Amino acid sequence: MSKMINCTNCGCLHASAQSVNSACHKCQERYHEMFEIIRQYISEHPNCTIMELAANTNVSIKSISVYTEDEKICIR
Ligand SMILES: [Zn+2]
Repeated sequence: MSKMINCTNCGCLHASAQSVNSACHKCQERYHEMFEIIRQYISEHPNCTIMELAANTNVSIKSISVYTEDEKICIR
């Protein structure tokens, strides 16, 4: 059963089956979209730095660090 909880990313109220650590649908979509952009850039520039990545993908360093913490990407 789902209940209303606050999104861990934007704080909006949304329905979720999980009780903790749940992002709303919009944030989850954005998370996957940004991940695709980052992944694509890294595959083309395997030796890029996090600074280059942020500058060339328009994804903030803070957002990129979320992916590195989740171990979705590995970058210097
Ligand atoms: Zn959200």
